[in-house]
Amino acid sequence: MSEKVDIKSLNFKELENFIEELGEKKFRAKQLYEWMHVHLARDYDEMKNIPKSLKEKLGESAEYVSLKQRDCQISKEDGTRKYLFELSDGNFVESVMMRYEHGISVCVSSQVGCKMGCRFCASTLDGWLRNLTPSEILDQIYSIQKHSGERVSHVVVMGTGEPLDNFDNLLKFIALLTDEKGLNLSQRNITVSTCGIVPRIYDLAKEHLQITLALSLHASSQEKRLALMPIANKYDIHEVLDACDFYFKETGRRMSYEYSLIAGQNDRDEDAKELGEFFSHKNCHINLIPVNPIKERDYKSSSKEAVFAFKNKLEKYGINVTIRREMGRDIDGACGQLRRRHMEESHS
Ligand code: SAH
Repeated sequence: MSEKVDIKSLNFKELENFIEELGEKKFRAKQLYEWMHVHLARDYDEMKNIPKSLKEKLGESAEYVSLKQRDCQISKEDGTRKYLFELSDGNFVESVMMRYEHGISVCVSSQVGCKMGCRFCASTLDGWLRNLTPSEILDQIYSIQKHSGERVSHVVVMGTGEPLDNFDNLLKFIALLTDEKGLNLSQRNITVSTCGIVPRIYDLAKEHLQITLALSLHASSQEKRLALMPIANKYDIHEVLDACDFYFKETGRRMSYEYSLIAGQNDRDEDAKELGEFFSHKNCHINLIPVNPIKERDYKSSSKEAVFAFKNKLEKYGINVTIRREMGRDIDGACGQLRRRHMEESHS
């Protein structure tokens, strides 16, 4: 038996070809595409103008990815929502919806688990299981928009997983999300965060997309980065920063650097000085994140005062710095914690 086609991962042209292969008229592709990517139908049954005979054919030949919502925690402080979704193979992923002045932002996962091993991150503790398909990444947004009834305006690929380790599916996902025949999100409203897979940063730059690339830097020297991020064994900090410069030159999009502040580890004067000197003449943005402690590791977050002091020191070098607003503090905070808690509970 041949494998079923993942219909929600097909672009419009591929969908037309598939529909023609089924012996159907081309205009059915337009209807189906609209049901999937504009009306965000959860199954074939919702598709009113699609004949039963076609729905039956599709049921046999195509898989319709619709994530099952298993949990939704809503913060009483700021309305942040943490969703836990079940995939068709029984794996779980989590996504977050945040409310900002500029709109609704959704943070999506790109893999089930992660193999990057960053020391402070909960997503990597159980390793990597598999890549998410374009439709599984997309449906995190569709499910949330449908469930919340609010239009998603911004998407950040900063949930579980390393997006550049799932490169082809990431590109397909972005193409579908920004398709004018679909949700038509602006590329400028999408941010992809990477721990720094150098060859893929060059590949992404050559796609000439207008998305924002965020590099998880977290340290001011190779030696310090190595203590936090195993990926630094493979790519030296200077190679990564060169790749980021290339991304900016090639796309004109200002780089964003994420820096999670860990008390006593990377929040000292010398760290600020090294960073400041390095970035002082660059057109970039540094986003400081007070580290969200996870119970499996003993990293402590820098105090509020230390975070502000670090920001001031960087600003003296003329750098654009923001402090990430802590959202949803009253619900399972850090990346991967909701999924882990669920797995722990179902194993005990
Ligand atoms: N793999 C990608 C995207 C996922 S993580 C990456 O590494 O960028 C999104 C961001 O959250 C990264 O900057 C990551 O380093 C950071 N992060 C992960 N766990 C964290 C924690 N416990 N506290 C603060 N930041 C964390």
